[in-house]
Amino acid sequence: MTFPARAVGTVAGPFPATLIDDIAAEIAEHGYAVERQGDGLCVALPVGRLEAEPEAAGFSVRIASSGPKQIHEMREAFLHFLDHAAPGLSERMTWRGDLPTGAYPPNFRKVRVVGTRPVSPNFLRMTMAAETVGDFVAGGMHFRLAIPPKDRAPVWPHLDGGGRTRWPKGEDALHNPAYTFVAVDVEKGEFDFDLYVHDGGKATQWALEAEAGEEVGLLGPGGGTLPPGDFLLMAGDETALPAIRRILELSPPGRRGHVFVELGDIADRCELAVPEGMTAEWLIRGEGPDLWTRIAAVPFPGEGESRFVWIAAERELARKARLHFRDTLGITQDEVYISAYWTR
Ligand SMILES: Cc1cc2nc3c(=O)[nH]c(=O)nc-3n(C[C@H](O)[C@H](O)[C@H](O)COP(=O)(O)OP(=O)(O)OC[C@H]3O[C@@H](n4cnc5c(N)ncnc54)[C@H](O)[C@@H]3O)c2cc1C
Repeated sequence: MTFPARAVGTVAGPFPATLIDDIAAEIAEHGYAVERQGDGLCVALPVGRLEAEPEAAGFSVRIASSGPKQIHEMREAFLHFLDHAAPGLSERMTWRGDLPTGAYPPNFRKVRVVGTRPVSPNFLRMTMAAETVGDFVAGGMHFRLAIPPKDRAPVWPHLDGGGRTRWPKGEDALHNPAYTFVAVDVEKGEFDFDLYVHDGGKATQWALEAEAGEEVGLLGPGGGTLPPGDFLLMAGDETALPAIRRILELSPPGRRGHVFVELGDIADRCELAVPEGMTAEWLIRGEGPDLWTRIAAVPFPGEGESRFVWIAAERELARKARLHFRDTLGITQDEVYISAYWTR
């Protein structure tokens, strides 16, 4: 694949002798495949390519991707790894090429509350408006809110002189929970998401008090591709319900498998577009078998069959599920999406 957009970052002057090894280790630790090329390294991803190598008087990083927004995202990820490998070095980097322009990071926009209504006892449907929403249709299933602290004038993230995102800190720090698009209305410039109301949630508190016209930030869209597989095992709790609903709606009719959704309150149950070959089961937390018991009991198709596991729930369940499917059943990385959607 060729990538038309390019950017180069350089650091002049001394840097630690083990720098390239340390960056490679950081990148690998985050699950990306790193190739070594002579003294340098290369990471080839579907979204772009990154190469880093020492030079006579410093080192350079080359990024190729589809556009300035994608270059920015890859550069932010690289700088994050660099900050761990060699704290402070990123401040000395200079960049040129196809970089985003503008005051805000390219994946950030301000959005406005249009209205809030309950869709079931514990879910609020939030309708929001933004100047542009077209990229929410196909750009990814999820986004993060950037909620400013109550009773303070919001301070939004901005790009500094070097093009790096600077986040407000301390009393101005933003709260960034992730959510899932439920509907996007491009003509009206609006989108909906469903927020699970739970004790102690900052976003819950914000949503309960939100007034029409109020502004928050949004980062995204991103993440959450449609899982492949003739056989699909899906499981999750309230936080995963919007994503499960969407994936089922977009699933091919011939798909086989099982869906388990665990709720604290059965009244939050909703319509699911379950393909004929799949079964759906609602579980009530604290009554009968729990999510883990049901997941672990599913007879799973053997190696070589077209199969996929999609699980999103509390961190501990995600950890158990990872061990079970990857380490015990030998499911490969491209047959699984297991994600911690919240932490107890
Ligand atoms: C990719 C992705 C998509 C998501 N989509 C959705 C979505 O569409 N709708 C949705 O409601 N959530 C969704 N979530 C989950 C949501 O981001 C988290 O629940 C988040 O913690 C909520 O933020 P908060 O400000 O309410 O709580 P926080 O301020 O993060 O946490 C405050 C307290 O609430 C507790 N808490 C957080 N979540 C829960 C919960 N579900 N049940 C009980 N206690 C909880 C925490 O343990 C903590 O003690 C998604 C998460 C991810 C990663």
